[in-house]
Amino acid sequence: MKHNLEKLLYAQEFDLEIDKLIKSKKVYPGQIESWKKEIDDLKNAIDDIKGLIVENQKNRRLIEEEITAEQDALSNKKQRLLKTKTNKEYTAVQNEIEQALERIDHLETEDLELMTVFDELNPQKDELIAKHKATRSENDSKIKEIHGKFDSIESDISKLEKKRKRMLSGMEDKAMRVYNRLRKGKSGIAIATVNQIKLSCQGCFKQLPPQKVLEVRRSEKLLFCESCGRLLVWDERAKKK
Ligand SMILES: [Zn+2]
Repeated sequence: MKHNLEKLLYAQEFDLEIDKLIKSKKVYPGQIESWKKEIDDLKNAIDDIKGLIVENQKNRRLIEEEITAEQDALSNKKQRLLKTKTNKEYTAVQNEIEQALERIDHLETEDLELMTVFDELNPQKDELIAKHKATRSENDSKIKEIHGKFDSIESDISKLEKKRKRMLSGMEDKAMRVYNRLRKGKSGIAIATVNQIKLSCQGCFKQLPPQKVLEVRRSEKLLFCESCGRLLVWDERAKKK
């Protein structure tokens, strides 16, 4: 009997390892997705900023063309001013000239504003490109690593299952049934060892009566923690300090 319970404890260690592998198999695809998304988001941000730069350049070209046209018109007006014959005509052309100057001033301010934005966009773009490059190299290697792990999960699980099966060969049915039933209800942990210093249950950390500890150590029957309901086992590997 004593022998059997220890085997069950070792089998539980394999089972918990298998549980962990199955869980990581579910987690990996989500992790890979989030690392890929991080790279894509940076790429999109670079594309957005490049679009803004192109738009900025285009608008500047249009404004500069408009300034040139306004300046040409202005020199025509100045020529006309010299040829005016009446005061009224002179004042009218003079007004036109003032309006044209105002318009040019306004366009030049807009041009300057676009230039300032351009000067801010460029370093932002460079920063994003550098960040994208670093993130891509870092995440690609993480993805590669996780792909490798993912591929080996199945073979790791079957290795552990073989070890578990070997460990449990000849195990009595009753203990096996108890173990399987408890594993379903106790978040996978059916067996709790006794803390040999504190004399408590390692499953729920509750103190155990000294008499119970003795009985568990003798391992003549199946004994359970009254607090968490797990099967109690004395682990001979854990030496009293
Ligand atoms: Zn307990």
